[in-house]
Amino acid sequence: MVREIRGPLEKLSSCAVCGSKAQREVFNGPDEFLQRRGMKIKIRYVLCGGCSLVYANPRMTDEELSRVYDAEYWKTDAAYEKVGGSWRLKPPFVEDRLRVAAERLHLLETRGILRRFKKGSSALEVGSSAGFLLSTLKRAGWKVQGVEPTPLANFAKRVGVPTKQAFFDESVLRGRTYNLIGLMHVFEHLKDPVKFLRSLRGSMAKGGLLWLELPDLACPRPIDLSHPHLYFYSANSITTTLAKAGFKVKHLETYNSRNGAFQVLHVFAEIGKPGKLKKDGAKEVKAILDDAWTLHRRKQNIGALVKTYKNARLASLENK
Ligand SMILES: [Zn+2]
Repeated sequence: MVREIRGPLEKLSSCAVCGSKAQREVFNGPDEFLQRRGMKIKIRYVLCGGCSLVYANPRMTDEELSRVYDAEYWKTDAAYEKVGGSWRLKPPFVEDRLRVAAERLHLLETRGILRRFKKGSSALEVGSSAGFLLSTLKRAGWKVQGVEPTPLANFAKRVGVPTKQAFFDESVLRGRTYNLIGLMHVFEHLKDPVKFLRSLRGSMAKGGLLWLELPDLACPRPIDLSHPHLYFYSANSITTTLAKAGFKVKHLETYNSRNGAFQVLHVFAEIGKPGKLKKDGAKEVKAILDDAWTLHRRKQNIGALVKTYKNARLASLENK
């Protein structure tokens, strides 16, 4: 069933990071992520003339977004299923996420990030899902804490990862600090990124690191161009956003995740004064997004050929 959006979309007159009113459309297309969930909504991204941040405008209201993040959010991703009288995580989902967690731990090791911390340091993950990354870190000797709004938090608790089922704000873990705070594909969903980053500062231990993994604007997948992603960051715009909240980037790299299936940004930042900030060009950003969409369409436009191959029958494989 296709459900039309109920409330009006929220129109933004200025950039949430730098306040500039200058904006230029860089993408306007169907929101496939939401369409698969029965919502007929388009997605339009604009580029800020002030800081070159790419943001959804108009964007879904809080009411609509909360509907996206209900229990169905993970169910439709084939994350869990009911077996007998109880729910369990599907084994292929668990294996995939644990492999990704192993990749992330490997990245921490090989980039010298782990060397910064003593054994028994503490890690907080915001949007910790079923605790895949945290259980991996726990096994490597870390003290861990998760915050996760969906029912996946219950699975994390079941496997020994302390997890609060909530959206993160300062009150959730009042007074506790962490050496490493990670957000894996969460930051681009947050409505007020600078306010959120400021709220994290109080949870950072001295010398602590913030670790973000994000879709990379330089290499978009169609699934990244979707409403839950209110922002679409590049190496430049994430550096500027962090700077606005008093963070400086220590290490940033583009990383080919899942054996090169897609490219993400890994950003490690600490509290401090940032260096020189740079902007992205509007023409280049628009060209990248247009190109991603053209390629996506080309990949989808194979229906007739698929049918031809399906109908091809051979009596024998011998050459005649
Ligand atoms: Zn801006």
